[in-house]
Amino acid sequence: MKTIGLLGGMSWESTQIYYQLLNRGIKERLGGLHSAKIILYSVDFAEIEELQHQGRWQETGAILAAAGRSVEMAGADFLLICTNTMHKVADQVSAAITTPLLHLADATAEEITRQGISRVGLLGTRFTMEEDFYTGRLQTHGLEVVIPEQSERELVHRVIYDELCLGQVKDVSRRNYADIIDGLVANGAQGIILGCTEIAMLVKPEDAAVPLFDTTAIHVQAAIEMALAD
Ligand code: GLU
Repeated sequence: MKTIGLLGGMSWESTQIYYQLLNRGIKERLGGLHSAKIILYSVDFAEIEELQHQGRWQETGAILAAAGRSVEMAGADFLLICTNTMHKVADQVSAAITTPLLHLADATAEEITRQGISRVGLLGTRFTMEEDFYTGRLQTHGLEVVIPEQSERELVHRVIYDELCLGQVKDVSRRNYADIIDGLVANGAQGIILGCTEIAMLVKPEDAAVPLFDTTAIHVQAAIEMALAD
């Protein structure tokens, strides 16, 4: 079994889900007392969040590149960045390491394509919904991406940083997200990407009329396949 490297803490609320799902998945596949081999570097999210909102992405990339090198030196065979948003600096991290980076948007697009869906709604931080590093990456897989309108994007973004990343799961926000999902479906979305690793804490399959693609679960599944591949 290969050793999985994780860049986490963005936020730790979702990193603990990665840790749990990776171990559960390896146990299901190998049985008994088997568990995942993991090296986790967990950052201080307050530092990252401040730089993000100041547009200082190069500096966030430098932090994650150094963390990625540490994880690699500690023996990881490949690396996951456990957040959609920070894939904005995926190339900077990749360039700093020699082991492969398992890209979250690629894994997600492959799963969506496997299910025969071509037009997909996207929820995530403002950065993820609005910028080419993510939507463009999905498009290279042949997907059409539908995003909420501006006021809705602001709400989705605010709930991520002010609630979910602080471990707060509120019914009012679930209802708001469900309404926004309905709008995306009315706009032709055949499925919805939960494109932020905390959203599955809030939104469940019963909140949507179409399939949900939970990026945390998809990323974990792809990591398990990679860890167990020859
Ligand atoms: N975990 C979130 C994501 O998947 C948001 C936190 C962050 O900005 O990294 O995008």
